[in-house]
Amino acid sequence: MGKVYLIGAGPGDPELLTLKAARLLAGAEIVLHDALVSNEVLAMTSPAAELINVGKRAGHKLLTQDEINALLVSYAKSRESVIRLKGGDPSIFGRAGEEIEALRKAGVDYEIVPGVTAALGAAAVAGISLTDRRIASQILLSTFSRRVDGSAMDWGSVSSTTTLVLYMPGADYAEVSERLLEGGLPADLPCVIVSNATGSRQQVRWSSVGQLSAEERLPAPALLIVGRVASRDVQGLGESFWGSDQKDRVSQQPSVI
Ligand code: SAH
Repeated sequence: MGKVYLIGAGPGDPELLTLKAARLLAGAEIVLHDALVSNEVLAMTSPAAELINVGKRAGHKLLTQDEINALLVSYAKSRESVIRLKGGDPSIFGRAGEEIEALRKAGVDYEIVPGVTAALGAAAVAGISLTDRRIASQILLSTFSRRVDGSAMDWGSVSSTTTLVLYMPGADYAEVSERLLEGGLPADLPCVIVSNATGSRQQVRWSSVGQLSAEERLPAPALLIVGRVASRDVQGLGESFWGSDQKDRVSQQPSVI
């Protein structure tokens, strides 16, 4: 029986791979990857490796999750190691839970190699701190997408100092805006959409919960950061918090694209 490595490919930039991920990819025999994994990361796999795209594009599934689980188990029976490569971190909205369950049931050894999840890549690209202690006390990684998780978002855990990161916000920003307003968020609460974070076509669009409905859709993959930290301005911060140095730093943040 071989071992399955569930590896995080990070949000796009291959330099954000862990050294461990890079080493395992360089020696890979077989790699089952998602559509989200960037070509630059795929280029780091051994030229001898067999690459299998098990991802889906534009909602068109290439393989069902059960089929992917079965493939992992069957390859593990004939290979020394099998790599399951996922965008971002494997454990964040990555269906790793189902794969782990299948591997455990089949008695296959596995190891998770964490990656930089899209929320962190997006925050870095936007140049913001997700837990700026003056205005944020917690981060909630969530999604409205029913396909991924049937359960509704837990609005009870959202406070005025929550930074909400919405994965898979979908194409309909008006609906997202409506649901955020329904959830009790104020219309003037800042938010930022980051598309293709850390990739060559990354885009950042600053907005607010109320304004979001009017924003032009950015290409997938994109995510939405909502909260007082999701602002280019020093909004929500008392003037006294900011010395001249910090003000300069803020004005150097990436501009709207
Ligand atoms: N396991 C992944 C998330 C998979 S769900 C991770 O940890 O990042 C897919 C969603 O992740 C996309 O719909 C999008 O919301 C987000 N995403 C993934 N890569 C992204 C990127 N480079 N830029 C912005 N959002 C990204």
